[in-house]
Amino acid sequence: MSILVLNAGSSTLKYALFDELAHEQLARGVIDWQTQSEKVRLELQTQSASQTQSRSDISNNRDAVKWILHVLADINLGESIRAVGHRIVHGGTYFCQPTLINEQVLQSLEQVSKLAPLHNPPALMTIKAAQKYLPEAMHVAVFDTAFFADLPPSAYVYPIPYEWYEQYGIRRFGFHGISHQYCSTRAAEVLGRQYDDSLRLVICHLGNGCSATAVHGGRPLATTMGFTPLEGLMMGTRSGSIDPGILIYLMKQKDFDPEQLDQSLNHQSGLLGVSGISSDFRQIEQASQAKNERAQLAMKLFTERIQSTIGSLAVLLGGIDGLVFTAGIGEHSPLLRSCVCDKLPFLGLKLDEVKNQSAHADCDLATIQSAGRILLIQTREEHMIARETERLLELSQSR
Ligand code: ADP
Repeated sequence: MSILVLNAGSSTLKYALFDELAHEQLARGVIDWQTQSEKVRLELQTQSASQTQSRSDISNNRDAVKWILHVLADINLGESIRAVGHRIVHGGTYFCQPTLINEQVLQSLEQVSKLAPLHNPPALMTIKAAQKYLPEAMHVAVFDTAFFADLPPSAYVYPIPYEWYEQYGIRRFGFHGISHQYCSTRAAEVLGRQYDDSLRLVICHLGNGCSATAVHGGRPLATTMGFTPLEGLMMGTRSGSIDPGILIYLMKQKDFDPEQLDQSLNHQSGLLGVSGISSDFRQIEQASQAKNERAQLAMKLFTERIQSTIGSLAVLLGGIDGLVFTAGIGEHSPLLRSCVCDKLPFLGLKLDEVKNQSAHADCDLATIQSAGRILLIQTREEHMIARETERLLELSQSR
């Protein structure tokens, strides 16, 4: 018996297969739509081997789920999947805790889909495909917003008419919660500290989507993503925070309609919008090193927004004991970590450049003299989702 996790990101579908108790990872991989080639790539890693496959007929998450199940079946890991854990970015006000997916839950998720247009629609397609191909399995939704259910009101209420909160539910939800929760717990372990003591952490989740969270004594104090995953840091194709007056101007003076604004801010902004080259950070790094001015500007903007966010979160926390870098860019770009940390010594955070260049998962990159630690934590959203799925499975069987 095993548990499959499907994590539909904005540009990837990550998957992982765990044993029945969600302890051991049997296989993991990713389907990546972002590669330069015409073909879509699938990576698979098991405990003993790894392989890559390419296909040109995979156009959406429905095809992708089928492909994953075929690949797992080929190595005799496809049978006996008893549960599937799905990462859902936005549960709106309906959901927070891990939830068994039924028709009614699917309908509610459809309703909140518009709030996370890059994530919820592909996740819904993934759920439906998994239900189709694995009809006997239990399907569980694990929400990215759950960790932030604990945010204090001053962090989730916006300075807008209070009735908007009361009548329309406009509030900060916060996202990447599965990752922020995992990374803050793991950071406490790496630092040899209790999670719930007064440990002050800033977690920077820097992938295609980017967010930062201040965690104090195991609880979220503030986070950058808001009512939707569009707020906060600059991202791959998303703008992050901008002056809302820009939208009013474009609507009133330039006849932009909401659909155009949605498209532009979600899909044509961020690293892609500024550089005009790509949303992929590897390409921005390359172009920037080749002295492309727009790529250099995109790098600088990206870096400075992370730096000023770390500064503001540090003030809320009253100092930082640990700064965590995670997700695609945070884990794999020494250059970005170096640029961000360049301005942080005044906060007592000093990066050891030698350690930074040879970094590996879950290590400390700060100099010995640094007052606060700088950690690279490999985010394991899939592991968290498997654990939550297993917990719900146990609970439903004990009833
Ligand atoms: P998501 O899960 O949101 O799709 P990821 O966490 O996988 O995103 O992060 C994707 C980002 O990580 C991309 O911008 C990619 O370019 C960047 N990335 C991955 N590997 C590297 C690397 N070796 N150096 C720099 N950036 C990298």
